[in-house]
Amino acid sequence: MSTPRPRPNVADIPPYVAGRPPTPRPGLVSYKLSSNENPYPPLPGVLEVVREAAERLNRYPDMGSAALYEKLAETLAVPTEHLSVATGSVGLIYQLVQAFCEPGDEVVFAWRSFEAYPIAVTAAAATAVRVPVLPDGRHDFEAMADAITDRTRVVLVCTPNNPTGPAVTQAELDAFLARVPSRVLVVVDEAYVEFVRMDDPVDGLATYRRRDNVVLTRTFSKAYGLAGLRVGYAVGPEPIAAALRAVSLPFGVSALAQAAACASLDRRAELLERVDALVAERTRVLSGLRDRGWDVPDAQGNFVWLGLGERTTELAAAAEELGIVVRPFAGEGARVSIGEEEANDRLLQLAATFSR
Ligand SMILES: *Cc1c(COP(=O)(O)O)cnc(C)c1O
Repeated sequence: MSTPRPRPNVADIPPYVAGRPPTPRPGLVSYKLSSNENPYPPLPGVLEVVREAAERLNRYPDMGSAALYEKLAETLAVPTEHLSVATGSVGLIYQLVQAFCEPGDEVVFAWRSFEAYPIAVTAAAATAVRVPVLPDGRHDFEAMADAITDRTRVVLVCTPNNPTGPAVTQAELDAFLARVPSRVLVVVDEAYVEFVRMDDPVDGLATYRRRDNVVLTRTFSKAYGLAGLRVGYAVGPEPIAAALRAVSLPFGVSALAQAAACASLDRRAELLERVDALVAERTRVLSGLRDRGWDVPDAQGNFVWLGLGERTTELAAAAEELGIVVRPFAGEGARVSIGEEEANDRLLQLAATFSR
């Protein structure tokens, strides 16, 4: 007797390993530094609009997310037709692959990079082409351009790169774009754009305005501290944004998420001050690690990368003893989010005591 069977690609979808929460330990406050979350709780004004929106949970959300589109268009100075909101940037990545790839088409991206990429690509029965990052954690754009074939439909550029940390410069991106055929869509994943402090940073908005094949993805999960609500947006040329909206999950972005995102855009200055504080902590952590003799790549997001190779699991266990949970990638390294000051101190303590 035959039973229903999923498409063969479904069995090939790699699992998403979510950052673990801490195991409670008596007498020790533990910190979760495993998911690049914002350690600050929602602003009181944001919580208030979410509470109000919760009173109407018997109703569907505004399917067109009209207020959010309007506020984003105004904030970014782009036409609403160039926007597509979604259930986080993860939702956008699924939609991009779904809208642009036939089964067997290729999606090129750096590796290691964001864990959701191979999942979204494989789920759409497209083929993931992973191009190893350089030893310093940067994208190898030469190799990425060389990896583009007739089957390539999409290239994903992750800047800053999760989990290794460095961000792409505008010069690097321009040189790469010059080598990408115009029929290939280039997605610039700017999940951590608000945290970037470097020379010649990518100007995503200026770049998409100059190109018909560039789309940016951004999120309210990191700088804006709304990871629990699942809302992000893409900015791109009208036909690309329209394709993303066409394949979006109807009513995907909840009323709570829409309200919180709008309220956060209204309080952008206050939220970006928190980002400044996290960046200051990142600087402190990075120089602390280097002072203790650790070779750490540049960190432009809200996390640092400890490329410990085979000793990664051991490091994660030692971190746990000190009451911090990191995100280990066995055999490669550990990603550690910038968190509360006390949590960051523990990381520096770990760096001082862990013998390499
Ligand atoms: C966290 C993260 C996202 C954002 O995910 P959401 O679905 O918006 O929460 C996207 N890209 C990268 C590289 C990330 O690290």
